Amino acid sequence: MNANKLRVTIWHEYGSEKINEDVTRLYPEGQHKALADMLLRETDDFDITVAEMQQPELGLPDRLLESTDVLVWWSHFRHDLVPDELCEMIMNRVKRDGMGFIALHSSHGSKPFDRLIGSTGSLSWGTEVNEILWTLLPSHPIAKGIPPYIHLPSEEIYTEPFCIGHPDDVVFGAWYETGHFLRAGVTFQRGLGKIFYFQPGHEVCDSYYNRDIVRIIANAINWAAPTAGFRDPGMPMIGNLAQELGITPKDEDEG
Ligand code: ZN
Repeated sequence: MNANKLRVTIWHEYGSEKINEDVTRLYPEGQHKALADMLLRETDDFDITVAEMQQPELGLPDRLLESTDVLVWWSHFRHDLVPDELCEMIMNRVKRDGMGFIALHSSHGSKPFDRLIGSTGSLSWGTEVNEILWTLLPSHPIAKGIPPYIHLPSEEIYTEPFCIGHPDDVVFGAWYETGHFLRAGVTFQRGLGKIFYFQPGHEVCDSYYNRDIVRIIANAINWAAPTAGFRDPGMPMIGNLAQELGITPKDEDEG
């Protein structure tokens, strides 16, 4: 493993691929593996681990979570099977350690995303139609090298009102041929961690083979990665300054 590479874990519930032939045809080894391959074709900045819910410890044992810089998450039908304890650990990694968290597509309803942003992530959805993904903030690091718009010939309608409160930035907006609209690429900061939600990625659509979509996800991983300081052991960013400031703690005074 190259110490300079970002340690990225792509976690997928990996369920519908096994029961829906259309999904299996499109993503024979699952969306997570297809996305990992596409990302590695795009950049050699990442050391990628793919993980699935069916694996022991739901694919996210402590040692993997603790050595992940950015966690990319895709879940849909099995949101509720993610135990609260695991969700809590993910949230702690994000808020206390600065691990990046990227919620893809139906993960708007996932436990870690909803709890991190403190809302329901609810929205309305429909069938697959033409989508134009507009770049609304071209100067944002996640939009670097991305064209003014991307045409996705088939994506599932996800539409406002999207119950996420007020994100820090709305980098992309989705317009569908039915006239529906969604804040499709949004950022949040929680504690030390950065969070990005990104709408494309319905399991029967080929968006994860679209190079611009993959570049956006690569940009988001780089943006969400913890800064070097967080990764240095012994460099607490938040904590008790008593020792550094030469202050004698009160209880020792009294003792
Ligand atoms: Zn979907």
